[in-house]
Amino acid sequence: MREKSAAASNPDAMSGATPRSHIVVLSGAGISAESGIRTFRGGGGLWHDFRIEDVATPEAWQRDPERALGFYNVRRRQLYSVEPNAGHRALAGLERDFPVTIITQNIDNLHERAGSSNILHLHGALDKARSTADDALIYDLAGRDIRLGNTCELGSQLRPHVVWFGEMVPELERAEEIVRHADVLIVVGTSFSVYPAANLAFLAPSHARKVLVNPEIPDTVGLDAFECIGEPAARALPRLAEELRKR
Ligand code: NAD
Repeated sequence: MREKSAAASNPDAMSGATPRSHIVVLSGAGISAESGIRTFRGGGGLWHDFRIEDVATPEAWQRDPERALGFYNVRRRQLYSVEPNAGHRALAGLERDFPVTIITQNIDNLHERAGSSNILHLHGALDKARSTADDALIYDLAGRDIRLGNTCELGSQLRPHVVWFGEMVPELERAEEIVRHADVLIVVGTSFSVYPAANLAFLAPSHARKVLVNPEIPDTVGLDAFECIGEPAARALPRLAEELRKR
């Protein structure tokens, strides 16, 4: 994954959706903001206090693994002191009436805890650890810290199961395929500044209804195909969910 360097575009026109539409949601840090988890940028953003290159890159891990582990340990502990908000719950509730797939850039587990069942974590999951010897060895942490000396069954150090800047995004192709089959695409709480995730928003087919939820509509090329709701997720998503049910 990498930070913004170029804008994506898609001139598709907006259109309606049918009652049993496949709803695909692309969520970013903004959906968890009202739960009390800081976003990536913006006022109070996480990276005002931490430099990406000190804690969230393979080089940072090589240089100072204890520091990187500490950064994620603090984030993980905080996760268990916050709750899903009305935005997460509204998306979970949609599953009663529609097939729903959530593709999230978030490493928190608030979609799961709200009740969503079909979630692809594009950038990994804070509550999991992974072997540094074998990417397939992934362990549930259940809120525990990862410390230097905690090892996988092969004896190698555990690392956070997250995608760092500069690393490949293993689930990208699967995510692209899901978006290409969306009938309704809801993009919520993302600044379109982290690639390749940002490009996913522009892969939905032309017939798909496309909705963007963000209190500060990003200045991103290609958003003319979207209905833009300039409100926080916890307010906008319950209303949007109700409207989708009525169609
Ligand atoms: P970002 O921080 O770059 O952008 C957040 C966006 O959310 C902004 O456009 C902001 O206007 C919007 N926003 C703020 N409050 C909102 C609200 N109440 N409702 C809806 N939108 C709101 O986030 P990003 O685009 O997801 O990129 C951040 C990267 O950092 C991702 O790769 C993600 O993995 C990671 N990250 C994850 C978390 C998390 O897991 N909760 C938190 C911080 C960062």
